[in-house]
Amino acid sequence: MQRKLQEKELPASQNIMATILQSIPKEACLTKIEYEGPRIALYTNSPRYLLEHNDTISNLVNIIKKRIVIRTDESIRKPEDESRRIISEYVPEEAKLQGTVFDTATGEISIEAKRPWLLQRNAKEFNHADVTEKIGWKIRIRKATTIQSRTIQTIKATLKQSATERSRQLREIGDEIFRPRLSQRSEVSLFTLGGFGQVGRSSMVLSTPESKILIDCGVNPGAKSPMDAYPRLDSLNITLDDLDAVVIGHAHLDHTGFLPTLCKYGYKGPIYCTEPTLPMMNLIQLDAIKVAAAQGRNPIYSERDVKQIMRQTITLPYGTVTDISPDIKLVLANAGHILGSALCHFHIGNGDHNFVYSGDIKFGKSILFEAASWNFPRVETLLIESTYGLKEDIQPTRQEVESSFINAVNNTLADGGKVLIPIPAVGRAQEIMMVIDHYMKSGEMVEAPVFTEGMISEASAIHESYPEYLARELKQKILQTDDNPFDSEYFTNIEHADAREEPLREDSPCIILATSGMLEGGPVLEYFKNIAPDKKSKVLFVSYQVNGTLGRRVLDGSKQVSMLGKEGKVEVVTINCGVEKLDGFSGHSDYNQLMSFVQRLRPKLRRVLVNHGERKKSENLAMNIRRMYRIPAHYPQIQEAIKLF
Ligand SMILES: [Zn+2]
Repeated sequence: MQRKLQEKELPASQNIMATILQSIPKEACLTKIEYEGPRIALYTNSPRYLLEHNDTISNLVNIIKKRIVIRTDESIRKPEDESRRIISEYVPEEAKLQGTVFDTATGEISIEAKRPWLLQRNAKEFNHADVTEKIGWKIRIRKATTIQSRTIQTIKATLKQSATERSRQLREIGDEIFRPRLSQRSEVSLFTLGGFGQVGRSSMVLSTPESKILIDCGVNPGAKSPMDAYPRLDSLNITLDDLDAVVIGHAHLDHTGFLPTLCKYGYKGPIYCTEPTLPMMNLIQLDAIKVAAAQGRNPIYSERDVKQIMRQTITLPYGTVTDISPDIKLVLANAGHILGSALCHFHIGNGDHNFVYSGDIKFGKSILFEAASWNFPRVETLLIESTYGLKEDIQPTRQEVESSFINAVNNTLADGGKVLIPIPAVGRAQEIMMVIDHYMKSGEMVEAPVFTEGMISEASAIHESYPEYLARELKQKILQTDDNPFDSEYFTNIEHADAREEPLREDSPCIILATSGMLEGGPVLEYFKNIAPDKKSKVLFVSYQVNGTLGRRVLDGSKQVSMLGKEGKVEVVTINCGVEKLDGFSGHSDYNQLMSFVQRLRPKLRRVLVNHGERKKSENLAMNIRRMYRIPAHYPQIQEAIKLF
């Protein structure tokens, strides 16, 4: 009864506009108020007032509890050429302006500079309010990357083309989110569709009488039949139109591989994820099409479907409370796993229930990322992954693995050999590059050229484009100094096969990072054929080697392997080089880190659910959470319905 009363007192959606009009003074010169997806956009033809009176907006946000953005009215935006000219006059030369990108949908201009710290908000020569007043576009300062990411360029071009259509869609999405609630019942259920009792095809639906949210939409790359490969959406009695939103935790295929197909089959609604997750998942989804084609399989979606995702995605920064339906608010928080990876916090009803989905999580700091966030104001139900859920799943500490890595590399380089590191392009490669740069600069690692080949440079460009998502120290280096490790002089990217001569030249020690990580295809194979017979060199694995892969056979001590050579001929490669594997660079928490994460949240928890692990791992983690922390914990299977509240 009491709850109902409170709800009635809340400003209904139609009152929001009235409240805004009352709270914003005339000097702000509002021209229009519009929904922009989950945000409310205030348009003004005199942006200076709102830019200089931050408190006006933050007070308003406190009253209406909605996200607000300031936009400049279209009528005051100067043409792009003219704006560009004005900007170049204002930007000091030392800032090294590299380019400007206009976003007509939001009226924002991204100014890309090599030294962005000289262009901060209140910089003397580059005051944002002054410049905005001159050009009529809102300013966003970005760090210009060493190389441009093609994926990000494609996203920008696609969004520009579809700006008008996108603005209309965002208004419609806003209408849906801010519509009055139809039901005052508070019930929350979770339907498991994939990734429970297994690793792969992570997916589930969070459901209330008011809304249905699909969380993650992965594939199981190893599965043979469609019934095992894709989320079991068929087991729910709903259509794609019934979904209010899709929320994506991070870019890996086992969390996003089915999303293009969902759009192909007609899902038209919003997709929420962090800003870097969009290019990361595009890159990974497009690569999966190539891999399928190379293996003679039919891809389940096309490039067009991947582009469609770009149009439907609404990116959210970490830590911002966002309404995604009439009764659900979402906060994304750093998960420490890969770039942009997020824990998803769902605040349901008027705080009736708080559900946190960990996604893949690293509760330990690395050079690339801070440890996963845990400081949620409220959590009743936690759903946590269990990739390393067994007690013996303990990894060496970062210090231990880094010093083993330094030794492994130094020994080979000192002997005049080459170190070949087969590596997944996304995440692990950047982490290893940062480790190498750090220890070569500090003098602990022998200096040598480092060559990269495969998708690595594109993935690195995406990492460098979002420094605000990287660990504090790294972010500070990129955004505030000239010592940017991504721009390190040690690194050379090999663009074409004919440039491999340099890394393969005899008697010149070097490090080679090439994809794929398990020696299953990719440029790494050519390097492997050359390096394996050489006693002085070494193949160094830094990621898990699945049974049945060439990587695993090499690791298990094979002395000779047959490989497919040019024109389909079988080549026999003799392995004389050293072979070594290092654990501890994983983007997943080990058993101890999973347990300490739960312990951090413990005072608030009422229930823990466990997913994303082989059955025995999920079972063990759930059992130990019950035993040690006295919290009810269990590990659902696929196609279960769980009542959360
Ligand atoms: Zn993952």
